[in-house]
Amino acid sequence: MASPSLYWLRNDLRLTDNAALTAAAAQGPVIFLHVLDDETPGAWRLGGAARWWLHKSLEALSATVPLILRPGAADKVIAEVLTESGAASVHFTRDYAPWSGGLERRVKAAADAAGASCHRYGGFLLHEPESIRNGSGEPYRVYTPFSKACFAAGEPRALKPVPQFTVFDGKLKSDSLADWGLLPTRPDWANGMAAHWTPGEAGAAARLKNFIADGLAHYADERDRPDRDVTSRLSPYLRSGEISPGQCWHAVRAAQLAAGGKLDRAAEKFLKEVLWREFSYHLLHHWPTLPEKPFRPEFAEFPWNENPQALKQWQKGRTGYPIVDAGLRELWVTGIMHNRVRMIAASFLIKDLLIPWQEGERWFWDTLVDADIGSNSASWQWVAGCGADAAPYFRIFNPVLQGEKFDPAGAYVRKWLPELAAMPDEFVHRPWEAPALVLKAAGVELGKNYPHPVVDHGTARDRALAAFKEIKGAA
Ligand SMILES: Cc1cc2nc3c(=O)[nH]c(=O)nc-3n(C[C@H](O)[C@H](O)[C@H](O)COP(=O)(O)OP(=O)(O)OC[C@H]3O[C@@H](n4cnc5c(N)ncnc54)[C@H](O)[C@@H]3O)c2cc1C
Repeated sequence: MASPSLYWLRNDLRLTDNAALTAAAAQGPVIFLHVLDDETPGAWRLGGAARWWLHKSLEALSATVPLILRPGAADKVIAEVLTESGAASVHFTRDYAPWSGGLERRVKAAADAAGASCHRYGGFLLHEPESIRNGSGEPYRVYTPFSKACFAAGEPRALKPVPQFTVFDGKLKSDSLADWGLLPTRPDWANGMAAHWTPGEAGAAARLKNFIADGLAHYADERDRPDRDVTSRLSPYLRSGEISPGQCWHAVRAAQLAAGGKLDRAAEKFLKEVLWREFSYHLLHHWPTLPEKPFRPEFAEFPWNENPQALKQWQKGRTGYPIVDAGLRELWVTGIMHNRVRMIAASFLIKDLLIPWQEGERWFWDTLVDADIGSNSASWQWVAGCGADAAPYFRIFNPVLQGEKFDPAGAYVRKWLPELAAMPDEFVHRPWEAPALVLKAAGVELGKNYPHPVVDHGTARDRALAAFKEIKGAA
C-alpha cells in the first residue's frame, strides 16, 4: 500500500487544472489539508468578506472531498500531520504574498525533518514572476511591455483534468468548519453577499460560462459601464483559486476561435485585464513592500490629511457624491465594486479627501470578496500615482463627470442609493445643484436623507495639486 501524500490546499480551492493535486494523487492516497493560518500573514490576515467566502468555498469543496481543517502556523500544522499520517510527500501551489516565500521554506524544512519530499507547483498565475524579464534581465515596471512579453511567451500550458485519486482513510483529527467562526456573528451582515455569489468551483465554472455567453461580446466597449452587467466577476474565484487564470484564458481563446474573428477585440481586451492581475503579482513579487510603502519613494513624504470622520463618511458611502457613494454601498452589500467605480472612489479618497491610500486599501481588504494582496495594493498605488506605471497624480477624477460619462442615465446610482431613485437624470450625479422644487419632488432632503458634498471638488482638487507640489521630484 502506497504511503499517503499530503496536499496542502491554499488559494487553489479546486480539483480541475490543479498541478499540486494531480501530483499528490499520483503518489498515493491523498490527505486534503487546509490550514487557517492567521499567524503568518500578521496584519494581512484574511478580511471579513474573504473569510465569509472561504467558509462557503470550503463548504462547497467538502461536499466532494473530505477536508482536514486545522488552525495555526501552516508549517507547524504540516509537520504535525506528516508525523501523524506518515505521509511521504507534501504538495502545494505556490503563493506570492510577501510572507509566503518564508513560509514555503519552513514547510520544506518541516518535510525534510519528517523524511517526506516537498513539491511546489505554479497555477495561481499564468507565468512565474521570475520568468518574465525585460531585455536587461530586470523585472518590468511598466505594464505594456510586460503584457507584450507575456503574449510573446506563448499560450499558457494545457489544462489538467480532475485527477483520479483515492482519499487517505486513516484517522486524522479535524476542526469542523463552523468552529472557525468565519461567518459574521451579526447575522444580517452577509445576506447581500449570499444573494450575489455562489462560492466554489462549480460557481466559478458557471460564472465563466455565463460571461462567455453574455458578457464577452460587449466587453471591449462596455466594461467601464457599472450600469451594465458585462464584466466577468471572476475576481473572487481567481483570488481563492476556484478557477485558474489558465482556465479563463483558454475558455476565452476557444470562444474567440469559435466566433471566427468576431470576438477578437473583446478577447484581447479581456486577456489584457487578466494580465493586469499578473502584472500586480509580478510587482508584488519583486517589490514585496508594495502593500505598505509607495513604490515611488518620494511619496513617503506626501502631506496627507488624516481625517477619521471623512474616512468614515467615505466607508459608509455618505460623501454626497453619488457615484462614489453608490460604489461604497455596492461594496458593503455585495463584497464587490465595479472596476471603474473602484478607480473613482479610490481617487476621491486619496485626492479629494487627501487620506492616505493605505486606509482605502485596508477598507477594501476587509470588505471585498476578491480582496487580493497583489491586485489591491498595486491598484491603490496606481490610483494614488505612487505605483509602478501609475496614473499621474495630477490626473484627478471629477466624480460628477465620471458618473455622467459611465453611468449616463444614473441607473447604477439609483440602484445603490434608493434615496436618489426619483432624481431626474440631469441632477442624479449632482443633487446639490438641483432646484429646491426638483429635490422636493424627488423626495430628497440634502443633509437629511442624502448628505451635502463632504468637500467641494474644485477646491479639493486645488488642495491636492498643492499638496503634490510639496513632495520632491513630483512631476
Ligand atoms: C483601488 C482598486 C482596488 C482593487 N482591488 C482589487 C482586489 O483586491 N482584487 C482584485 O482581484 N482586483 C482588484 N482591483 C482590480 C479590478 O477592479 C478587479 O479585478 C475587477 O473589478 C474584478 O471584476 P471582474 O472580475 O468583473 O473583472 P473583469 O473585467 O472581468 O477582468 C477579468 C479579470 O482580470 C483581472 N483584472 C481586471 N482588472 C484588473 C486590474 N485593474 N488589476 C488587476 N487585475 C485585474 C481580475 O482578476 C478579473 O477577474 C482593484 C482595482 C482598484 C482600482
